[in-house]
Amino acid sequence: MAPALDHLLLAVRDLERTAREFRAAGIDVVAGSPPGLPHGGVPTACARISCRNGVAIDLLSYGVSPYGQAVRLLAKTPAWGPLRSRGSAVERYIGDGLARTEGLIGMSIRVDDLAATVRALRDEGFDVDDPADFTRTDATGAESGWRVAAPGDPTLPILIEKLTPSLPTTEADRGIGIGWIAVRTDDTDRTATGYRVVLGEPEADGSWQLGPVAIRLDGGGRSPGLPNLRACLGSTPLPRSASSLGLVDAFNTLDTHSAASIDRLAQALRLQTVSYEDPTRIDDSQFVQLGELLETSFPKAHSELTVEKFGHSRLYTWPGTDPTRVAGLFLAHMDVVPVDDPDRWTHPPFSGVVDDEFVWGRGAIDDKSRVLALLEAIEGALTDGVRPTGTLYFAFGHDEEIGGENGACVIARELLERGVRAEILLDEGGVVTRGVVDGIDRPVASIMLGEKGFATVRLSTRDLGGHSSMPPKHTAVGRISRAVVALEDNPMPLLMSPTVLDMTKRLAPFMSEPRRSLLRSADRFSAVIARILTARPQTEALVRTTTAATVIRGGVKANVLPQHAEALVNFRILPGESVADVLAHCRATIADDRVDIELAPGMLAEPSPVSPSDGPEFALVAESARKVLPDVAVTTGLVPGATDARHYNDVAAVRFNFAPIILEQADLERIHGSDERISHENYQRLIAFDRILIERL
Ligand SMILES: [Zn+2]
Repeated sequence: MAPALDHLLLAVRDLERTAREFRAAGIDVVAGSPPGLPHGGVPTACARISCRNGVAIDLLSYGVSPYGQAVRLLAKTPAWGPLRSRGSAVERYIGDGLARTEGLIGMSIRVDDLAATVRALRDEGFDVDDPADFTRTDATGAESGWRVAAPGDPTLPILIEKLTPSLPTTEADRGIGIGWIAVRTDDTDRTATGYRVVLGEPEADGSWQLGPVAIRLDGGGRSPGLPNLRACLGSTPLPRSASSLGLVDAFNTLDTHSAASIDRLAQALRLQTVSYEDPTRIDDSQFVQLGELLETSFPKAHSELTVEKFGHSRLYTWPGTDPTRVAGLFLAHMDVVPVDDPDRWTHPPFSGVVDDEFVWGRGAIDDKSRVLALLEAIEGALTDGVRPTGTLYFAFGHDEEIGGENGACVIARELLERGVRAEILLDEGGVVTRGVVDGIDRPVASIMLGEKGFATVRLSTRDLGGHSSMPPKHTAVGRISRAVVALEDNPMPLLMSPTVLDMTKRLAPFMSEPRRSLLRSADRFSAVIARILTARPQTEALVRTTTAATVIRGGVKANVLPQHAEALVNFRILPGESVADVLAHCRATIADDRVDIELAPGMLAEPSPVSPSDGPEFALVAESARKVLPDVAVTTGLVPGATDARHYNDVAAVRFNFAPIILEQADLERIHGSDERISHENYQRLIAFDRILIERL
């Protein structure tokens, strides 16, 4: 017999609650103990969801008792490693997942000859425990037995061999069908080797087909606190908590409408609308084709809205029923950043590959998905006869990634001349993260209230030069190096802005103690919190104008004193400070009149104004986010980079940067990195969110 999927292991914190939620969604959860392993070497509570083809999902929990809580706390301390290593591999495999994660922690696969499979894995250098036998007597007195071996590598399955023939299941066709399972791994090649040993060679697309279930590897990386696997459960509606457990819900079972929208996005991703600093490298024909694609894909939007072109940028005007109001200005951009190394991509960056879960390609997150989602929402609203109350503008830039000078900048000037002032502006820059904010399990929506400024300072110095045999104490290279070191060692001061205070206070209710109390009283403890935030570069950027020395050059030959040396230092400026403050800081810190300090040519932006988070506009965006993501924790923040929105300061009363797509740490790195992709679920949610805003503005 070929290997078969036996069951999935689902770690949950509160078994009763999760079981209740699944039952409420119409999914049968049977309480009691499935084949009774001493899961993780400690008592666990168990329940089971039966799926089609004899597969099961076993829910396991250490429980909400003080004991369970203690285990989970212990798992966060250094004592956990040595303690855990005393158990068997099965105990480690399950115990570790159970203590540290909520969600799918692994799966077990039935094989015919366990001993042979274990040997083959060991031959490939995998650490696998010796098989152990278990027996159980069920309520009818029937005895069953099986043999289990667990690998040390938690990306591989637990292996099971049945010692007694399983009873034929009469209910094989009932319950939920599992469509696919995606295994997160940090090392796709290594994990693939393991699966090849257990399951044989994969299909052409790199997945393994186990009966009706496809298993594939996801190089998105593992991270403690997140499920190790994700699985798509047929077309059954799942409870809200399912997606954070790694169970992908019905959004992914594409209906014809969403399949068509996914296809339109994929087509847009195939066009190489790349922005290069060197304008001769930009391929205009790709931008023309993208424009044509939008026109043919969204015929209603293009016949019923006014479309104006500014170079390749586009401005759409949708008059509202109330002509006195300009309700909304939606920004998005059609250009993308170049691809550094196409070989590091799973699928070629401009292939627009669509698989069961994702659409892949440069621009999938940043920012073509937002362009297309807005047009999907407009087209859908027009089809349904919906008209906005206030006039809506949609401005799609073609050069955001190189500053927006010919796109956003021109459109903004035009709108200003026409006297347009929108009640609310919405652009890219904030998303929903999961597993990124320490101490919060649920997804966190960051609706950004503004963005940091951007300035690059050029430090340069000249010297006489000469032979290197009789050098002065400091050469031009040395002087510039000292200037760079001085700036790195003396960063701009910590600054707890009202925005960051607001952000932390909004997160407080979702934290556990003692963080909750600390954040709740953020006003009193702002200095302490600012200090804590400096622990990681991502959070330090919230409380400081950051300093990044990015370029240094000088000298021509090893035995010649340099006549010239220079460095470029990039600053991201907090609202409350300015470009002038940065220059003054550089002068005071470097304090060397032989070093010239000036702004480098190129991009320069003061920090944006900060929008209020206590007004009706913020409430509207937050409510719309909650509508598409009911369990989200809404907070605020600042965009660390510069977006097109900065050009529109004078044509909108408030601006927010936000899109309701859920990203994990690894996904954030895909933006401007490799393997950029968006899940079908995220894309459909984005369209739904845009539609809600169109109807409510
Ligand atoms: Zn962007």
